[in-house]
Amino acid sequence: MLGNLGRSLTDAMKKMAGMAVIDKKAVKEIVKDIQRALIQGDVNIKLVFELSKKIEDRALNEKPDKGVTASKHVITIVYEEMVNLVGKEAHPLEITGKPYKIMFLGLQGSGKTTTIGKLARYLQKKGFNPAIVSTDTWRPAAYEQLKQLTEELHISLYGDPENKDAVDLAKKGLEKFKNQKIIIFDTAGRHKDEQDLFDEMKELSSVVNPNEAILVIDGTIGQQAHDQAKAFAKTTDVGSIIVTKLDGSAKGGGALSTVAEIGAPIKFIGTGEKIDNFEVFDPSRFISRLLG
Ligand code: GDP
Repeated sequence: MLGNLGRSLTDAMKKMAGMAVIDKKAVKEIVKDIQRALIQGDVNIKLVFELSKKIEDRALNEKPDKGVTASKHVITIVYEEMVNLVGKEAHPLEITGKPYKIMFLGLQGSGKTTTIGKLARYLQKKGFNPAIVSTDTWRPAAYEQLKQLTEELHISLYGDPENKDAVDLAKKGLEKFKNQKIIIFDTAGRHKDEQDLFDEMKELSSVVNPNEAILVIDGTIGQQAHDQAKAFAKTTDVGSIIVTKLDGSAKGGGALSTVAEIGAPIKFIGTGEKIDNFEVFDPSRFISRLLG
């Protein structure tokens, strides 16, 4: 996961575990290794320096608990600060209210349609029976993709490739599925220009009135994820984020850390093209795995 970033961090942790003494020089060396790994993973430089300063200060000033070795103590500090970097706590998706309306947002190619399939499958496994509404009038293949997927999963789909009015599609879908427990709305990921896309999201959001707007961000774009998330957050109240394509992405660390900064929690991550390559995002479990 996350390509070289995971490997470099695991190596840094191993190196420290093997050190006989953890003095100031050793701490500085480890902090340098971590910095190098994070910068290569496209983590924002300001975040990297804030993180390394915190690790260094705590490693040099906090005393280990009784019976805890100096290296274990520093590893715990690194772990805690890294967890903070990607969002502190897990924020599970909670289905409250009926119908629970989930509106997906994201640029074309971010993995939005694939991720809708993954979330639908995830919800199905939890015993829910979500319905999907396709409002993407710009990419005809999106409807076909959803049609195939929903047939495979035995999930209801509403869409009409002849209808070019996204808001009308959303209204009709809402009416059709008003008795369902969960409705997932797919939206367009591109338009004539970006502003038109954002305007449409604003309008759709006011019609759908989602309980949760989920933004899908491509993990391979690294720290650019920050600006993209900010731009979408202006159109609607983004409740959560899903970062996709973290399988092997060298820039995944950058996407996760900068997105975690914007305030909406990362709830899931995409780790491959297959429907089950999807995980609940739990910062502490994720970082434990990353540090090896
Ligand atoms: P959309 O335009 O946002 O609806 O994007 P799609 O769902 O069509 O996905 C665009 C491409 O990204 C497809 O080739 C997907 O298979 C691929 N994709 C989506 N999620 C992931 C992921 O988590 N990992 C990988 N490796 N590829 C993904």
